[in-house]
Amino acid sequence: MDSALTFEQETLRKTVEDFARQVVAPVAAKHDAEHSFPYEVVAGMAEMGLFGLPFPESYGGMGGDYFALCLALEELARVDSSVAITLEAGVSLGAMPVFRFGTEAQKEEWLPRLTAGRALGAFGLTEPGGGSDAGATRTTGRLEGGSWVIDGSKAFITNSGTDITELVTVTAVTGQTSAGRKEISSILVPVPAAGFTAAPPYDKVGWNASDTHELHFDGVTVPEENLLGERGRGYANFLAILDEGRIAISALAVGLAQGCVDECVRYAAEREAFGRNIGAYQAIQFTIAEMEARTHVARCAYYEAASRMLSGRPFKRQAAIAKLYSSEIAVTNARAATQVFGGYGFMNDFPVARFWRDSKILEIGEGTSEVQKMLIARDLGVA
Ligand SMILES: Cc1cc2nc3c(=O)[nH]c(=O)nc-3n(C[C@H](O)[C@H](O)[C@H](O)COP(=O)(O)OP(=O)(O)OC[C@H]3O[C@@H](n4cnc5c(N)ncnc54)[C@H](O)[C@@H]3O)c2cc1C
Repeated sequence: MDSALTFEQETLRKTVEDFARQVVAPVAAKHDAEHSFPYEVVAGMAEMGLFGLPFPESYGGMGGDYFALCLALEELARVDSSVAITLEAGVSLGAMPVFRFGTEAQKEEWLPRLTAGRALGAFGLTEPGGGSDAGATRTTGRLEGGSWVIDGSKAFITNSGTDITELVTVTAVTGQTSAGRKEISSILVPVPAAGFTAAPPYDKVGWNASDTHELHFDGVTVPEENLLGERGRGYANFLAILDEGRIAISALAVGLAQGCVDECVRYAAEREAFGRNIGAYQAIQFTIAEMEARTHVARCAYYEAASRMLSGRPFKRQAAIAKLYSSEIAVTNARAATQVFGGYGFMNDFPVARFWRDSKILEIGEGTSEVQKMLIARDLGVA
């Protein structure tokens, strides 16, 4: 048991660890190879209440907190990052904006289905023309006769085209501020909707069992009440959601990094070279020890960011540090694990090959490493 965790947290962590090993692991390679969405695994996570972890029971949640979500993500990603990102995006990007910024009516309409995992919500910020510069939004929303009419495109949107996707929250330019800048608002779009199309899934390098699409909005019309949060606050609200999301992505990266250690410890005891297990060689021992040390430090970073967030202290810098560091060490561990496995590490039959392909996106999604450095420097008053 990790001494930093309470009894309840350790119980949750262990329950998800068992689920990951017994339910997720046996089908991870198949879904990765077939690029298929793991509906049966998602149903299992829904049954366990994982989609409701950080939400109050009054909205169908489990009454836990964001750290509980992170613990679950870490355990899932130890085995399969596609499953972990499906949960992360469903909770942190799909349901959380409604919980944080929705009216009571919006929460009552959406949260029970989203927190139960019966429906998935997606978060449409990135556009084909740019993700890091999220303020460069081109999608528009204009108010016509009591409805928002939405035109534009969103790129790389997770969970946006599954059979159970029911909501896509989008940022759209809804006017101009008094200072002449774009007024960006967020709008809830129930899907399917007339004028809404999800393009065929992307052919990705990793996260193959996660659902990702380019989305097109061609005169999609939703009621005026579907504005999420204050008009003109859409960009700021989405950035706040991303601050939290970085802690969750950090947890996911730590899980992948730990999965690499798990696989290497096992393999080092089994694989023989020159008449001895490869674990007898100091080069392999040191490689695995360094992997474990990096993982431990990254875990401390996300635990601290989550602790600050939950105690109401500023956490933007700590979340960016956790995301930056853990995503980079996840890539480093995946590369090292592939090396420990030698030629078998390059074969898709072994999880480390999947870990390697799944690791790179961690340095890109929910803010690239460069964006994290910009946030850290800005918080230090440098920029
Ligand atoms: C599998 C996947 C799932 C995703 N899911 C979602 C989702 O659910 N919802 C969503 O809204 N988005 C999603 N994204 C989008 C993701 O958040 C963006 O890809 C990411 O923010 C980077 O944006 P970009 O791809 O447009 O790269 P760009 O912004 O074009 O950046 C290209 C390069 O330039 C660098 N760069 C840009 N600006 C600067 C600067 N000022 N200084 C230094 N370097 C800079 C970047 O760091 C990067 O290296 C997903 C992406 C992927 C691949």
